[in-house]
Amino acid sequence: VKKRGLTADDYVEGVLNQNRAIIARTITLVESNAPKHFELAQEVLKRLMPYTGNSIRIGITGVPGAGKSTLIEAFGSMLCDEGHRLAVLAVDPSSTVSKGSILGDKTRMETLSKHPNAYIRPSPSGGTLGGVARKSRETMLICEAAGYDVIFVETVGVGQSETTVRSMVDFFLVLMLTGGGDELQGMKKGVMEIADAIFINKADGDNKQPALNARSEYNRLLHYLQPATPGWETKAYTVSALTGEGIPGIWNVIREYEEKMKESGFFEERRISQLSEWMDRLIEDELKRTFYQKEEVLNLLPDMKKKVSDGIIPLAQAVKELMEVYRA
Ligand code: GDP
Repeated sequence: VKKRGLTADDYVEGVLNQNRAIIARTITLVESNAPKHFELAQEVLKRLMPYTGNSIRIGITGVPGAGKSTLIEAFGSMLCDEGHRLAVLAVDPSSTVSKGSILGDKTRMETLSKHPNAYIRPSPSGGTLGGVARKSRETMLICEAAGYDVIFVETVGVGQSETTVRSMVDFFLVLMLTGGGDELQGMKKGVMEIADAIFINKADGDNKQPALNARSEYNRLLHYLQPATPGWETKAYTVSALTGEGIPGIWNVIREYEEKMKESGFFEERRISQLSEWMDRLIEDELKRTFYQKEEVLNLLPDMKKKVSDGIIPLAQAVKELMEVYRA
């Protein structure tokens, strides 16, 4: 294939024929920030749309060092050996600041990256978290059209990115480590509320008993929380990504979840509400982008800010005037 001039037909056919080089180029097209690529990318996505949706989308999060890449390597290899086709994507909030991204790095998943059934794609870089996530979401659709039936979306557990990833997956898995009881109450509560399962990793050697104790503690706490998914009880489990103990159990939990949620109809319901959520998000992004691009707005903005800080006009009045200039 020549480096230039792929048509929409070429992209669509290549993806549907599971041509890895074309899949990669389609993702690059969709990730592009160049306005000239936008229309072609959207045309390709539109035509791939009928072939999307046939996968289980699994979000995986955990603090750096929790064992995400080790777990994805072990769990992913198991799935690929069983005949599944797995795409591993990443939403890395740090990639919005620095160019590169550590998540989804192939060197972190050496065996898996060589597996013919696996496709690993690092986090897109540049732009806002919303922008990065939008691209990963579209990449997910491309992978589904290319026949990947299991999608992992990896993100680091440091804040906002978790809720963003939650809103694009069916099942949200949180990796935890054993740690002091105090931590359980504060920072981790937020992520526990959006988790469909908590896996306490590194339950091996001397750490096995503390991990089992932590599991009981988490289960006790989970009992008081509203479950992330109606009709599903979020539970804590132990696992060792290193020895492989507990890895097959992860898949059992996910399968049970999928079966239950499809039966209740919530599986489809959530996907539909996620779409509407994403649409709202894109509209917000677009409004914001066009607002801050409008020259008249940019000209007036410093003046308005000064007037507000000098107490000459109230804040809401300044915003109203800016909006009028924006709409004009
Ligand atoms: P990530 O930052 O979340 O991707 O974490 P990594 O997968 O890179 O793991 C961080 C460190 O923990 C590495 O040195 C791993 O070898 C180690 N590790 C990961 N999983 C386990 C486990 O189940 N048991 C033990 N003992 N070490 C593990």
